[in-house]
Amino acid sequence: MPFSRLGLSPYVLPALARALRQAGYGAPTPIQQQAVPVLLQGRDVVALAPTGSGKTAAYVLPALQRFAMATARRPRELRQLVLVPTRELALQVADVFATLGRELPRQPRVVCAVGGVSINPQMMALRGGADVVVATPGRLLDLLAHNALSLRQVQLLVLDEADRLLELGFGDEVRRILAGLPAQRQTALFSATFPDQIEALAAAGLRAPARLQVDAQAPAQIEQRALRVDGERRVELLLSLLRDPRLRQVLVFVASIREGDRLAGALRGQGIAAQALHGDLSQGRRVRTLQAFKEGQLQVLVATDVAARGIDIAGLPVVVNHALPRSPADYLHRIGRTGRAGSPGLAVSLVEAAALAHWRLICRRHGLRLEPEVVPGFEPTGAVPAAAPAGDGNGGIKGRRPSRKDRLRAAAARTPAG
Ligand code: AMP
Repeated sequence: MPFSRLGLSPYVLPALARALRQAGYGAPTPIQQQAVPVLLQGRDVVALAPTGSGKTAAYVLPALQRFAMATARRPRELRQLVLVPTRELALQVADVFATLGRELPRQPRVVCAVGGVSINPQMMALRGGADVVVATPGRLLDLLAHNALSLRQVQLLVLDEADRLLELGFGDEVRRILAGLPAQRQTALFSATFPDQIEALAAAGLRAPARLQVDAQAPAQIEQRALRVDGERRVELLLSLLRDPRLRQVLVFVASIREGDRLAGALRGQGIAAQALHGDLSQGRRVRTLQAFKEGQLQVLVATDVAARGIDIAGLPVVVNHALPRSPADYLHRIGRTGRAGSPGLAVSLVEAAALAHWRLICRRHGLRLEPEVVPGFEPTGAVPAAAPAGDGNGGIKGRRPSRKDRLRAAAARTPAG
C-alpha cells in the first residue's frame, strides 16, 4: 500500500510525499498503515507498536496534516503536545517533524522541552510561540510552573513509549499533565508493551480508542543468538567478538552506570574506540557521544537502558547484551535498536550461569527457542545448563551457523523431488 492510500488530504499529500521520498521512506510500515487513517479521522488510538516499527511517522504524518489544514494563527498557539520518556527520543521526534514537514508551505514550529539542560533557552524558544512541543514530563511541568506555555489550546496529545513514560516513575507527572489538558482533544498512545498501568491510564484519558497492534515479536530480520560465558570472562568474550568484521559498530548494553564506565574504559584500554552513554553524563556530552557513534568515530557505544531509549541509528548492525535486561520487555527494546525498518541485524546476549533462568524466562516470554551456545575457548566452568546446550557443534559467533534458509535448503536436498 502506498502512502497516497492512507487518507492524507490532497492538499498536503504532494508536499508530504516529496518529504517521504527524500527521507527514503518507500512505503508505509504496518503501524503507519493502521494508525495514519484512524488518526486522520480524529479518533483516539492506543497502539502497541514495537520500537523500530516506524511509529513516530505514524503520528507525525497526521499531526502535520492537522497543522497544515488549520488556519495560520499569529501568534502561534500550542496545539500539539508529544510526551516522551527521554531527551534523546524528544530530539528524534522533533527531527521527524522537521524532516517530514520540510516541504509544507508553512512549517510548524517545534520546541523540545527536556530536562538535563538549562531551562532558559527553552523558555526563550517558547516565548516566540510553538505549534508543537515535544517534552519530557518533568520539564514540561517546570515550564508550566513558570507560565512559559499554556496547554489550553492543545488538540492533539501523543504519549510516545507510554510504557516507559510510566515505568520511569513519571506516572504522577503524566497524570498531572493530563489533568491540565482540555478534555476535547485527540489522544494517541504508543507503547511497545501493555502493562496494567497503561490500561488504567488509557481508560482514564482516551475516548473509545481504536486499538491497534503490530507484531510485538522481534522483527524477523534480526538474528538472535545467546552465548554461554563465565561471568568473569564476559569482557574477554566481548573483545573476541569485536574482532569479527560484522561487529564494526556495536551497541553494548550494561546493567548499571558503573558497569558502563568500567566496560568502556576496559575496551579503550584494548585500543577500541568505545564510550559510555548513561544518565550521569551531561546532556551535551550525551549528544556528542551519540553523534560520534552515529558518525562512525566510535566502534562501541556502551549504554544503560534509560540512555539507550529511543536511540535510532540507521543501519546499526549489532546489539550485544553484555548484561541481560531486567525485564523481558526491555529485551525487545534493546534488540530493536538494530534491524531498523527492515535492515538486517544481529543481537547477541551473553549469558552467565547465574542468569540462565532469567534468560529462559525472556525466551518464554517472547516465544524464542534459543539455548545459549558454547563458544570454543570460552567453555563455561560453572554450572552446566539444565537443558542441553543447543548450537550446531561448529560453534562460536565467528563460525558460520546454518541460517534458516540453509536448513530449509538442506531439508529440501534430503527430500527427493517429485
Ligand atoms: P521509529 O519506530 O519511529 O523509531 O522508526 C524506526 C526507523 O524506521 C527510523 O529510522 C525511521 O526513519 C524509519 N522509518 C519509519 N518509517 C519508515 C518507512 N515507511 N519506510 C522506511 N523507513 C521508515
